[in-house]
Amino acid sequence: MRQYDADVLVIGAGPTGLTAAGDLARAGRSVTVLERRPHENPSSRAFATMARTLEVLDARGLADDLLARGHRAPGIRLFAGAYLDLTQLDSAYPFVLVTPQTNVDAALCRYALDQGAGIRRGVEVIALDQDDTGVTVTARPRDDDDPAHRQTWRASYVVGADGAHSTVRSLVGADFPGKTVLTSMVLADVKLAHGPRGGLTVGTTREVLGFLAPYERHDADGSWYRAMVWDRAHQVPDTEPVDDPEIVDTLARAMHADLGVVDIGWKSRFHCDERQVAQYRHGRVFLAGDAAHVHSPMGGQGMNTGIQDAANLGWKLDAVLRGADDGLLDTYQDERHPIGERVLLQSGLVARGATLHPRPALFLRNLLAPNLLRIPAVRDRVAGSFAGTTLRYGRRGLVGTRATQIPLAQGRLTELQRTPGFVLVRERGAQPPTAPGLLQAERADAGPAVLVRPDGYIAWAGATADVPEWVTARDPVPAVR
Ligand SMILES: Cc1cc2nc3c(=O)[nH]c(=O)nc-3n(C[C@H](O)[C@H](O)[C@H](O)COP(=O)(O)OP(=O)(O)OC[C@H]3O[C@@H](n4cnc5c(N)ncnc54)[C@H](O)[C@@H]3O)c2cc1C
Repeated sequence: MRQYDADVLVIGAGPTGLTAAGDLARAGRSVTVLERRPHENPSSRAFATMARTLEVLDARGLADDLLARGHRAPGIRLFAGAYLDLTQLDSAYPFVLVTPQTNVDAALCRYALDQGAGIRRGVEVIALDQDDTGVTVTARPRDDDDPAHRQTWRASYVVGADGAHSTVRSLVGADFPGKTVLTSMVLADVKLAHGPRGGLTVGTTREVLGFLAPYERHDADGSWYRAMVWDRAHQVPDTEPVDDPEIVDTLARAMHADLGVVDIGWKSRFHCDERQVAQYRHGRVFLAGDAAHVHSPMGGQGMNTGIQDAANLGWKLDAVLRGADDGLLDTYQDERHPIGERVLLQSGLVARGATLHPRPALFLRNLLAPNLLRIPAVRDRVAGSFAGTTLRYGRRGLVGTRATQIPLAQGRLTELQRTPGFVLVRERGAQPPTAPGLLQAERADAGPAVLVRPDGYIAWAGATADVPEWVTARDPVPAVR
């Protein structure tokens, strides 16, 4: 049996694992991704890249290319004329980017490889054993039972980003409590002759639900959309094939119009569970993305939350490998578990709201939703929460908020962050402290100095003259907050 070594082993080459691998490799860590599939996953799955994720991708130089391959949806048309306007989002990206997940996966894969991560495809993890100094992982070629073909890997830490049916989660003995919320949901890529223009559109009756998100792909006879349909009266197992007439008919009933379905591409039937592990950290093993939480795709949060889990974890693993206190790794659970909980709650609300059946509840929904979303404070709260721009760590104060929108005397923060590490943003006019290797910038407004973590959130705020000593050390290793 051959043994290989790495600082960090990432299990799963989905968006979560690839973000973690790219970030760790960019920070100088040796990192290998083990992926069961022999090739990149060709199925389209998630369609929505939210504003906060675009900021995270921009800090890795990946946003512009992705923006060129998608449609910028300025809002979401909900039931009964309710409209969620995203154009007022406090972000350089006041929209949802509609693009197939394959584009995001490909961008992150390029990033991980460019930064020097190794990706081993067609290799599945089957066992895991941890001790005081590291983790030993056993893997084999996919579905190959021959013990002679097994490989072992030794790493200081393991990131389990192996999706909803995570092997890593089972191997650390973590429960995945929760329940199924919707069954027989159908996803498809459809070409429509008369599809809706502009943003995302939800259509409902008491019996059916339809959802359409426009891709930026037009042919002479129509335009491509991601469709999601659900029919209360047609509840069958995930294994039941999806017939084209099922999509055409349910979509027409939900949208109250014949949209002229010209073609149907990728399609899939699935069920939605709401589940979350209680602990994201199990010693030296960390669960991230769908391995840690799953929920309804309505609200478009799955891929986005996974990428942001990884951005939170990557720099902490690097810092601890460089000598930071191990307690820093506990803050991954402290910060990301509540976010996961919130995502489950809001995706669940959307799923339940869109499939309401009792007439009085429907009446109330249709009466309240349009009016509430016209109130700017409500609109901004709801939009910011789905976009991820208002999510924060900790309850109050500047520390824990995202720094992305701080105006700088030159350039923007996400450009500076393409070089990994902390960034000290000084007050306007403040002299730069001597801090070899520390990225620095100057504010263009009257706010305080802030120290920005590698994931873009504020770690400290104050006066440049009072910056903590560890910040100005040659190789800054963060103190635990
Ligand atoms: C049919 C479908 C439709 C979806 N639609 C939407 C949507 O519309 N909107 C939305 O936001 N989200 C949607 N999602 C969810 C979204 O795709 C996920 O949230 C996202 O892919 C999570 O990324 P991840 O990296 O955590 O996990 P994944 O993308 O699942 O990646 C996990 C990887 O781990 C690999 N793996 C698993 N076990 C092992 C092992 N033992 N050894 C090695 N590798 C292993 C898998 O092959 C896989 O490549 C959908 C998911 C599905 C399945």
